[in-house]
Amino acid sequence: MNKTESITKVASEELFEKSKMLFPGGVNSPVRAFKSVGGTPLFIKKGDGPFIWDEDGNKFIDFCCSWGPLILGHNDPDIFESIVETLKNGTSFGAPTRKENDLASFILERIPFIDKLRFVSSGTEAVMSAIRLARGYTGKNKIIKFDGCYHGHVDALLVNAGSGLATFGTSSSAGVPEAFAKETIVLPLNDLDGLRRCFEEYEQDIACVIIEPVPANNGLLLQNNVFLNGLRLLCNEFKILLIFDEVISGFRVAFGGASELYGIYPDIVTYGKIIGGGLPVGAYGAKKEIMQFVSPDGPVYQAGTLSGNPVAMAAGLAQLKKCSQEGFYKNIAIRTEKFTAEINLFCSENNYPLELVSIGSIFWFSFNGKKRIVRSSQIDPDMSYFNKLHNFLLNNGVYIGPSGYEVGFVSDKHSHHILDEASLKIIEGIKELFG
Ligand SMILES: *Cc1c(COP(=O)(O)O)cnc(C)c1O
Repeated sequence: MNKTESITKVASEELFEKSKMLFPGGVNSPVRAFKSVGGTPLFIKKGDGPFIWDEDGNKFIDFCCSWGPLILGHNDPDIFESIVETLKNGTSFGAPTRKENDLASFILERIPFIDKLRFVSSGTEAVMSAIRLARGYTGKNKIIKFDGCYHGHVDALLVNAGSGLATFGTSSSAGVPEAFAKETIVLPLNDLDGLRRCFEEYEQDIACVIIEPVPANNGLLLQNNVFLNGLRLLCNEFKILLIFDEVISGFRVAFGGASELYGIYPDIVTYGKIIGGGLPVGAYGAKKEIMQFVSPDGPVYQAGTLSGNPVAMAAGLAQLKKCSQEGFYKNIAIRTEKFTAEINLFCSENNYPLELVSIGSIFWFSFNGKKRIVRSSQIDPDMSYFNKLHNFLLNNGVYIGPSGYEVGFVSDKHSHHILDEASLKIIEGIKELFG
C-alpha cells in the first residue's frame, strides 16, 4: 500500500454516525472514540491471532489486544473450545459452580501471598471492592494513590493531585463529590520521602496505599525496586495496607504479575483483564485474615449477579493454563525486546526523540527522548507526533491504541515474523515524522 494513501473507512464511518445517536460520543468507553488522535474510530469485525479486521475489510496487526486481556491473541483455539464446551450447559446460574473453584485453585496454587479470592466482573469493581475491604479491615478512611496511576473509574480514585506535597485530592470527574475526593491523598511516584512525611502526618487515618506496581495506563512509568521495596517497608512500619492493582500487570509481566517479578508482595491484590481470557472478569485477593472481613464471612458487603460466571471462568482458566507453561513469559518478553530494540536503535542512530519503553510484553511510545520516565509530570503533553504516527500506522496495517498515553501489548501470537513486519512499518512511520 502507498503510505500516503488512506484506507477506506466507509463502513466504520456509517456505523459511527449511527452509534453517535446511541451512545455518548458514539462509544461505550471513552478512549475508543479516537478523540485524542482524531478521525473515525474503526469498527472491528473480527480478530484472529495477532490480526484484526474492521468492517471495511482492512486488516491490521493488533497491538491493542483489547487493552491487554488477549495475551494469547484473538480467538485462541483452547479458549474458544472451553467457552463452547461450557456454554453447552448454560450461561449463568447465580449459584456456585465447579468452574469457579477450578480457576481460583489454579491461581491460588501459584500465587503465594494470597489465600483467598473473590471474583467480580471488571477491574474497576475489583479495585472498588479492595478499597472497601481495606477500609473495613482497618476501620480507617483515607487512602493514598499515586499521580499517574489509573485504577478504573472508582469514585475515590478519579482524583487529581492538588498543588504541593501530600495534598488531598481534587475530583477529576464531574459527579465525584469533593468530599469523596478529600479522602484520597495523591502523591508523586518514586518519592519515598514524600510518602514517609505523608504517613507521619496522617498515620491515624490512612487505610491503605494503592499503586499500579507497573504503572501502564498513563505512559509506562516503570518504577525501580528501591521505590517499590521502600513502599512495602514503609507500609509495614506504619501498619498501613498495601494494595497492588495488578489489573494490567497481573499474568502479563509474569504469571504472578509485578509481585512475582519484583518479589514484593502486597496485602491485597486486584486482577482483571488477562484473568478473564477476553470475557469480563476481575478479582481481588488477600491473606485469610483480611479476606474473612468480606461478606458473608465478615462485615464488608460485596456481591455480583454474574460474579464468577462459568463461561468467563472457563475462558480465564484456558488462558492461564497456557500462560503458566514453562518459558511462556520469557519467550514473549524476548520477542518484545527484539522488536523494541530494533526501533530504538533506529531512533538513537538518527537522534530522533523517541524511545519505546517496555517491560515483558508491554511497550509504550515515549516521545520525550528521555530515558527512565518515572512520573506523569515528565511526560511531554504534546502528543502531535504520536497522533501522526498513529494515523500513519492505521493506514499501513498496524493498529495501536488511539492515545499516546496508552501502552501497546504483544501477544504470544505475535511471532518474530509479525513483529519484524510491524517494526518495519513503525520505522517507516518514524521516518515520515522526522525525516
Ligand atoms: C484496566 C484497569 C483497571 C480497570 O479495569 P476495567 O475492567 O476497565 O474496569 C483498573 N486498574 C488498572 C491498573 C487497569 O489497567
